[in-house]
Amino acid sequence: MSCKRVPSPIGWALVLAMLSLAALSGMADMAAFAQKLASDPFTADRLRMVETQIFARGIEEENVLEAMRSVPRHLFVPEGLRDQAYVDFPQRIGSGQTISQPYMVALMTALLNLEGGERILEIGTGSGYQAAVLSKMGAIVYTIEIREELGKQARETLDRLEHRNIHYRIGDGYQGWPEEAPFDAIVVTAAPPEIPERLVEQLEVGGRLVIPVGRYFQDLMVVTKRKDGVTKQRVAAVRFVPMVTDVE
Ligand code: SAH
Repeated sequence: MSCKRVPSPIGWALVLAMLSLAALSGMADMAAFAQKLASDPFTADRLRMVETQIFARGIEEENVLEAMRSVPRHLFVPEGLRDQAYVDFPQRIGSGQTISQPYMVALMTALLNLEGGERILEIGTGSGYQAAVLSKMGAIVYTIEIREELGKQARETLDRLEHRNIHYRIGDGYQGWPEEAPFDAIVVTAAPPEIPERLVEQLEVGGRLVIPVGRYFQDLMVVTKRKDGVTKQRVAAVRFVPMVTDVE
């Protein structure tokens, strides 16, 4: 004879309590989501950007995806271009410079292999967007921009968003930041014609330099520092603004 077990009255009360708790917490999630949508009208665009442009192209590192879901990219482009901030292209940020395409930011970030807590040097602050993504991932960021007006503007944006783990310098990134070296990773977001030796010197052994290299035709490279030299890996053909030594 089979014996079906039915919950006792106390059991039923527990089930009911759990169900209503689940419903309530679901509503709390929904409410939080609705609030987020209301306070940031670009939330849905941003989540779609991460799904369709980044995850769909093979970037699965959850810390990268999460950072890109949370940094409000539209606040890093000029006001008139905000509704274009989440499209699959680079965007103009003024002074003839660009903020990289979202996928490129994700790819370069994923190539750095971050776990959180690393000290990272970024060359080419630009809008500050890449720095924001790195900072969201728990890195301590040292970022250098050669164009003063861009560097200042980026700092204002990042201060407003309360990124406290970013250090700023206006200057020539070819020199690196020797006082703070060695770095666990270095990311360069403008293209030099060749890999700058100074930057390799400022890497920790085991650290990675992610950098576009070349004049017109450029390769995105990962340079890994070893005890007895470096290994170089070519990742993709890319097109970045040139890394310059001087601005007029
Ligand atoms: N990481 C930026 C993209 C910046 S575009 C972002 O997320 O928006 C590249 C930037 O590199 C430009 O702002 C350009 O002014 C800067 N740059 C070019 N040569 C440089 C150099 N030698 N040192 C520092 N920055 C440089």
